[in-house]
Amino acid sequence: MTQTTTPQQSTSATFKALKCKECGEEYELKAAHVCEFCFGPLEVTYDYSAIRRMVTRESIQAGPHSIWRYRAFLPVATDKPIDVGTGMTPLVQAHRLARRLGLEQLYIKNDAVNMPTLSFKDRVVSVALTRAQELSFSTVSCASTGNLANSTAAIAARAGLDCCVFIPADLEAGKVMGTLIYGPTVMAVEGNYDQVNRLCSEVANTHGWGFVNINLRPYYSEGSKTLGYEVAEQLGWQLPDHVVVPLASGSLFTKIYKGFQEFVQVGLVDEKPVRFSGAQADGCSPIAQAYRENRDFITPVKPNTIAKSIAIGNPADGIYASEIARKTNGTIESVSDAEIIDGIKLLAETEGIFTETAGGTTIAVLKKLVEAGKIAPNEKTVVYITGNGLKTQEAVQGYVGEPLTIEPKLDSFERALERSQVLERLEWQPVLV
Ligand SMILES: *Cc1c(COP(=O)(O)O)cnc(C)c1O
Ligand SMILES: [Zn+2]
Repeated sequence: MTQTTTPQQSTSATFKALKCKECGEEYELKAAHVCEFCFGPLEVTYDYSAIRRMVTRESIQAGPHSIWRYRAFLPVATDKPIDVGTGMTPLVQAHRLARRLGLEQLYIKNDAVNMPTLSFKDRVVSVALTRAQELSFSTVSCASTGNLANSTAAIAARAGLDCCVFIPADLEAGKVMGTLIYGPTVMAVEGNYDQVNRLCSEVANTHGWGFVNINLRPYYSEGSKTLGYEVAEQLGWQLPDHVVVPLASGSLFTKIYKGFQEFVQVGLVDEKPVRFSGAQADGCSPIAQAYRENRDFITPVKPNTIAKSIAIGNPADGIYASEIARKTNGTIESVSDAEIIDGIKLLAETEGIFTETAGGTTIAVLKKLVEAGKIAPNEKTVVYITGNGLKTQEAVQGYVGEPLTIEPKLDSFERALERSQVLERLEWQPVLV
């Protein structure tokens, strides 16, 4: 089961090596994620002149309706990746939310409806498990805050891989059921995500499993670039002015940035400055704190927030995310749990999109940035909604009113309707109460 050698690279493969982000040391394309010399994170490198020769806007548009239309930019050698329809989620112009906030051009990238498990994690897992098969792993695993376990279990089932996932024991019921249903082994660890992650690093070393976000992390994280590519393509092969992105480990944020840069480098879009702003919950905001205090190191925190899917107290890519926010003239902000709930409701009521707590965090940060003048009304702004509200229903329980229970009779309905209209008037005109 343990994999040690590198399989033959196919001639059409465009990825070249793993390279340390800190010291530049290069490694063969195996399952590894830290530099042996300086412990820096490893990242996949590509032959961009080869990609430039292979890829045009037309060739991408003629590809599959999934992330695999960007295969030349992804670290897999096969022509037959695991394609579960992940990606190409809607980019919707959010007219009503824009008007409410005072913005002119606001877009929602809606990964709440990503396939197959309704979060952006399906992108990274599709790439990681395709690569895991190339590296001959038969058992795949992950350390998860919830959504990653859903994706890993579902896509492993589809690919016929054995699967064992690790989650903190206190996750939302929807996240746990949304994993168990696919029949993996589920380890519910009595501890927070950072403790789960540490345990998994030890298991990866001793069991030779493919952990999507540990020893396969360099491949896995590349899948997030597709959230950059799709937005550029869906905006008519243009980059936006400003993006607002939720931060857990910070990986997604840095990879959207890399995706935009790669599209510029191979000539698919024109270069232009894009401002990158990040969103965290007050109850777990180590990146926002480092940003605010202008530090070049992260001080780990103990998470305490309803936004469990982004509650990583010791974020691996936090410093890289903070650097990008600074150099693109963006920012990193955090919001309270109450603001997160309001954010979930605001998006639902204005745009008909039910997002989970991570999305509520992002909308609340968007609102805060607009109110503080940190997003100008005329900036073309894209907000990334990364997960689905049906998975975190307990977060809004008690904040959304209740159904009116009536008898199956017209007069019962009429009385209830009248009562509800009175209630509505009271809500709108509280001064009269
Ligand atoms: C995992 C996750 C993120 C952010 O992930 P990174 O670790 O920063 O790449 C954002 N939103 C949701 C819903 C997630 O599950
Ligand atoms: Zn190094």
